[in-house]
Amino acid sequence: MAIPLEQVRKTAETRSSSSLAAPKQGQAPPRVLIVEDERKVAKAIKEGLEGNSYLVRLAHTGEDAFFLVNSEHFDLVVLDVMLPGRSGIEVLSAIRKQGQKTPVLLLTARDSIEDRVLGLDAGADDYLVKPWACPELLARVRALLRRGTAEAVTALRRQDLEMDVVSRSAKRGKRMIDLTTREFELLQYLLRHQGQVVSREMLARDVWKEETRHSPLDNVIDVHMVRLRRKIDEGFATKLLRTVRGVGFVLKAEAG
Ligand code: CA
Repeated sequence: MAIPLEQVRKTAETRSSSSLAAPKQGQAPPRVLIVEDERKVAKAIKEGLEGNSYLVRLAHTGEDAFFLVNSEHFDLVVLDVMLPGRSGIEVLSAIRKQGQKTPVLLLTARDSIEDRVLGLDAGADDYLVKPWACPELLARVRALLRRGTAEAVTALRRQDLEMDVVSRSAKRGKRMIDLTTREFELLQYLLRHQGQVVSREMLARDVWKEETRHSPLDNVIDVHMVRLRRKIDEGFATKLLRTVRGVGFVLKAEAG
């Protein structure tokens, strides 16, 4: 199968970006998930990214990767195609079927154009052919993260609940919702993960920015949820914010 590489490549701009700096100081470091069963390779990528101020998590199987993508927030996934059990492409398809839009950089073997085509079709944002040099990997990562920011959704919606992230306003139907800063962050997070159960651990880490949970935040989170639920659901027949007992919360539409 002879397909010119440039035809399957979606991002041609990635090579010119090596002069751009890694995450700026003061900004939350981007969270990257690396999925690679070869531990030496995984470790090398991890060290390369951590040396450039990224927060890195490792998964060595497709199953672990799928679990992590569903339980934590990531700004980018670096996904090897060749994995034992579920292949990288199967994992990618499953993630995309759920509606997850996290950028995915695929690592493919040198001689497998088929993998690249399958990968891009399955929803990969870019790919890197093995073996690669660390600066090239870093350049691709930066390019994908930049693109993610440029295309970041600023209007979020679930049913008649709408949020404008730029003007920092929210409304349900025609009723404006007055939110505190924390409630706004909380609702934004729930909207970005709508349909997915969000745990208290995720909220503590991603909304309250408590990387290590020294302080018991559960009560604080629950109190905020009660107030938020009152603000968005009270007076409406369809309730949007649900508690999933023992697990967390989910924003989805259910009658009653
Ligand atoms: Ca591998």
